[in-house]
Amino acid sequence: MKILMYHLIEDLPSPMAVPPDRFREQMELLAGGPYTAVTEDDLHTMLTQGRPLPPNAVLLTFDDGYANTVTTALPVLEQLGLPALMAVCGGYLTDQRPRHVPHPAQETADPDQVQQWTASGRDVAAHSYTHRRLTALSERALAWQTAGDHEALADLLGRPPRTFAYPYGAYDPRVQRAVAGLYPLALATDDHHQPDLRHPYALSRIQVDPGWSLHAFRTALDSPADPAAAQRAARAADALTTTRATP
Ligand SMILES: [Zn+2]
Repeated sequence: MKILMYHLIEDLPSPMAVPPDRFREQMELLAGGPYTAVTEDDLHTMLTQGRPLPPNAVLLTFDDGYANTVTTALPVLEQLGLPALMAVCGGYLTDQRPRHVPHPAQETADPDQVQQWTASGRDVAAHSYTHRRLTALSERALAWQTAGDHEALADLLGRPPRTFAYPYGAYDPRVQRAVAGLYPLALATDDHHQPDLRHPYALSRIQVDPGWSLHAFRTALDSPADPAAAQRAARAADALTTTRATP
């Protein structure tokens, strides 16, 4: 299976922002191709009960809980019937909401927007209380960032979140233990680890590069399961196309 990671869906010169028209093309490919977009529940059931995922399974994830995920990505996902998981910082739904953001598109979703996302049948994961690098924290602060987020999101959603996404992809055995006490699954962001479904506390994801052509996107989806290999294959596919196009 592949787990794709998005942040903003926006025309911004940022490695975290995939342009909306490109995003739509990618989602249309996903919906029309030999892929099956799966839910958090599918992944959870596979890991806990061994129920296999469909072939070419893809889980879509959106980090940081941007308002943009609800206003821009959600209509496309709804139109194409694609499930997805949004990783939200519980503190951002309270008085800890960031007051200043570098760009209006980086505004985080308010509780109503998170409710709109869940009302559409899509899932919410935890992403720490206030997006801290967990490996650098004291025990007390780590507990707050993991348990505090769990509590805030359980209050808002009416049920506890089941997946945790490490901010900045930063984790170590101590962080994994803290997360494992509260969440059945955890998502990493790194390209350096083989995704190993026997170890559900570091499920690696493929970050979708804003510069990828649709061909590169498909190459990433079709490459061997290692996200690093998928990234390399996608980049190489575009480099090859560029070389061929040059007389
Ligand atoms: Zn993040």
